[in-house]
Amino acid sequence: MNRQTIIAANWKMNGTLNLVNEMSNRLNQVKLADGVRVIVCPSFPYLAEMAVKLQHDNIYLGAQNVSEHEKGAYTGEVSTTMLREFAVKYVIVGHSERRNIYKETSLQVAHKVQALLAANITPILCIGESEQERMAGHTETVLAAQLQPVIDEVGIEKFNDVVIAYEPVWAIGTGKTASPEMAQETHQFIRQFLAEKDVNVANKVPLLYGGSVNAQNCEGLFAQADIDGGLLGGASLKVEEFSQICSTVKGS
Ligand code: PEP
Repeated sequence: MNRQTIIAANWKMNGTLNLVNEMSNRLNQVKLADGVRVIVCPSFPYLAEMAVKLQHDNIYLGAQNVSEHEKGAYTGEVSTTMLREFAVKYVIVGHSERRNIYKETSLQVAHKVQALLAANITPILCIGESEQERMAGHTETVLAAQLQPVIDEVGIEKFNDVVIAYEPVWAIGTGKTASPEMAQETHQFIRQFLAEKDVNVANKVPLLYGGSVNAQNCEGLFAQADIDGGLLGGASLKVEEFSQICSTVKGS
């Protein structure tokens, strides 16, 4: 099954205008394999500049969050309409930092996915278990509980327009990457979970792995049958390392 291969950069609350310039200049020169697309998600204030600077047919602009509301008295929030004005094509939702620090629930995440789909923006839906949950053997239950409210909200067929990022919380920013085999096993579970609802959707949805991915470990992870690329944090801030990962990744 040919699926899109995606490398997505989550800058989190990092970066500068200088990095926007350096990264976009470098990425504009990168030659990507067929079927590969790259998504760069800087913080909101850098979207406008990045939208102008990124000039590559297969590199897209993304954001790290969005409001589930259309507009109104929601101080500090950013709407799908605003993001569309800056050519944002993807938005990360349900990142574990949003779930854990800002207490976003799976239902709220589902509403964000709904708002994005209604605005023709592709959600990058993050799911993942904590270390305690994995140790207790609850990984699959946790992932199912994060996915089901979104399926209930938007319907499984809408997952044709969703990207899923599996990010074990214990691997994010820790240097503790899941082994390729462990990541593949979990990705296979996620695809199987979706296949029970709709096999065509399950075969099409890109499943990214995230959690301490870097230039050294990406090849083994991305070679796995159900891993269609990665969501990268730390490594996505390093111009040379990130562009090297993008230019070496193979299309499926
Ligand atoms: C992330 O925050 O989505 C992430 C995967 O971070 P890191 O690559 O730094 O672990």
